[in-house]
Amino acid sequence: MRELIVPAADLLLGARCAGCGRPALGLCRACGAAIRPRPVVVTLGHPIADLVPVAGGMNTGILRRVLIGWKEQGMTGLSRVLDHHLAAAVVVHARPGRPVVLVPVPTSRRSRRARGADLVDELARAAARLLRRAGADVVVEQALTHVREPADQAGLGADARAANLAGALRARRTMRSGARDIVVVDDIVTTGATLREAVRALSEAGHRPVGLAAVATTPRHS
Ligand SMILES: [Zn+2]
Repeated sequence: MRELIVPAADLLLGARCAGCGRPALGLCRACGAAIRPRPVVVTLGHPIADLVPVAGGMNTGILRRVLIGWKEQGMTGLSRVLDHHLAAAVVVHARPGRPVVLVPVPTSRRSRRARGADLVDELARAAARLLRRAGADVVVEQALTHVREPADQAGLGADARAANLAGALRARRTMRSGARDIVVVDDIVTTGATLREAVRALSEAGHRPVGLAAVATTPRHS
């Protein structure tokens, strides 16, 4: 019956695949297969301490369209696709026998209002569930908060982004989840300004993250 119901729903709702635009609920099978996670080490203009940023894939093609659908067009169900990318990037930082806490970069009040949810937090929780199902000890803790609201990052260059974010975050001194390897997570790494500010705030509060993970990275234009 399901085979009949889904196309009927597509016709009624006009649902389109976020990757190719063909009728589908969420993401079609072909696009799902095409964007399987391929973790990459992100090269930043300025390194963030001695931390290696890893992304689950490149922010191009189908993955880019899926991220836009998820982030800008309210297709929150796509978290189910993107959590695999974040989980794959987190796994690169895992050390044998060490429990992990994912610390999501906090969403600004403005974008939480616009999107009705803290998307990065939800994504981190979905990735942690996946990793726990695979036997890893992974939890999520929202240890970072905004001290002040930064301006919208869109359209800002690397230097302007860094200046916009400097001192914007604060970290909790004591982690509620106890002693675990901290991996800072975000959705898209572009210049690394957000992750850099997150690491600065965590270090100031006495924490030493072991890794940085994101769903995707935007190729740099030099
Ligand atoms: Zn598709």
